[in-house]
Amino acid sequence: MLIVQKYGGTSVADVSRIKAVAERVVRTAEDGNKVIVVVSAMAGETDKLINLAYQASPRPSEREMDLLLSSGERVTSALTAMAIEGLGHKAMALTGRQAGIITDTVHTKARIEKISGERVRKAIDEGYIVVVAGFQGITEGDADVTTLGRGGSDLSAVAIAAAVNADLCEIYTDVDGVYTTDPNVVPGARKLDRISYEEMLELASLGVKVLQTRSVEFAKKYNVPLVVRSSFNYKPGTLVVKEDEDMEKVAVSGVAYDKNQVKITVMAVPDRPGIAAKLFDAIAKANVVVDMIVQNVSSDGKATDISFTVPRTDSKSAKQITEDVAKELGARGVNLRDDIAKVSIVGVGMRTHSGVAAKMFETLARHGINIIMISTSEIKVSCVIDVKYTELAVRVLHDAFGLAEERV
Ligand code: ASP
Ligand code: MG
Repeated sequence: MLIVQKYGGTSVADVSRIKAVAERVVRTAEDGNKVIVVVSAMAGETDKLINLAYQASPRPSEREMDLLLSSGERVTSALTAMAIEGLGHKAMALTGRQAGIITDTVHTKARIEKISGERVRKAIDEGYIVVVAGFQGITEGDADVTTLGRGGSDLSAVAIAAAVNADLCEIYTDVDGVYTTDPNVVPGARKLDRISYEEMLELASLGVKVLQTRSVEFAKKYNVPLVVRSSFNYKPGTLVVKEDEDMEKVAVSGVAYDKNQVKITVMAVPDRPGIAAKLFDAIAKANVVVDMIVQNVSSDGKATDISFTVPRTDSKSAKQITEDVAKELGARGVNLRDDIAKVSIVGVGMRTHSGVAAKMFETLARHGINIIMISTSEIKVSCVIDVKYTELAVRVLHDAFGLAEERV
């Protein structure tokens, strides 16, 4: 098999960890596989570099930031290749550029445009274990170094796996896989053997941090089979693959929560065309990403309330913009609530099971938890609740949907 193995920051945190990774890589190769390794920077290294940048300048330029940040992954790729050589195998470290990863020019969150897997393939054919520095690429024209956004090494790995048509892409981290919910909140949370791309995508965007959201999108698009597993043991991990019939048998696969949002409400805005367009256009222009939006019908045909959620880090700017627009529109006022959390249930089985949302609401009600906002997609139901009930809500929902029980 041709296998891509990606090792995250904690898996390559120091030289002894890098040596452990080298041993696992060599073991995979000696089992008769061809291996391409993709590495992150050592744990904490990217943050350290960002910190240095802000010491050098209050507003470091993004182009130079990318050059700086890409160095973290170069260090680990070289050290990992050396450690593999130390075990008697041929190894070759490559930067993103050398691996042929071409991106657009959006520094610090570039998108991969194409990959020419030639150099990687040639090295593999010559018997090398290739170690690619994750998180980076270059622009086509000027060959400027770019980075792919935080957690971007996952994307590097998936993209390379797609480019060389790998049989499997293993994402090594410090947890055993994807869980039914946060085991810190629910000790009985269970590791999932398998999950669909779509469910993983919802979970990743709901804040489950095992995989970068864009890497899951990419894997889904190119049908790259992923495994999330720990580099600290040999447990099998969680397989992320295309949905199949078995997966639809369970209504809910996981419960997620997010405490990093705030709710803004515009009170009594006029009920006429163009109001929402105006408000959300202003917010979008400030680069604030809106998550949930709820607007009711106006009972008197004149005015209604609009509520929406934004990331906590953007709450100040979003509130300011909303107040400006509200004044202009003649709304009654703006109110911000920051003591909220979003609790979500996710599962492809929701498409075919009825009563899933009702069961969620009923479970929350039974425990005296008031629902402030609701939003749904085909495979997700989210409720905004008072933040102080987050853990309770997660526990009772995990229980209500039988997630602790072994599946057949
Ligand atoms: N080192 C980068 C980060 O910390 C990329 C990665 O680890 O995937 O975000
Ligand atoms: Mg990561």
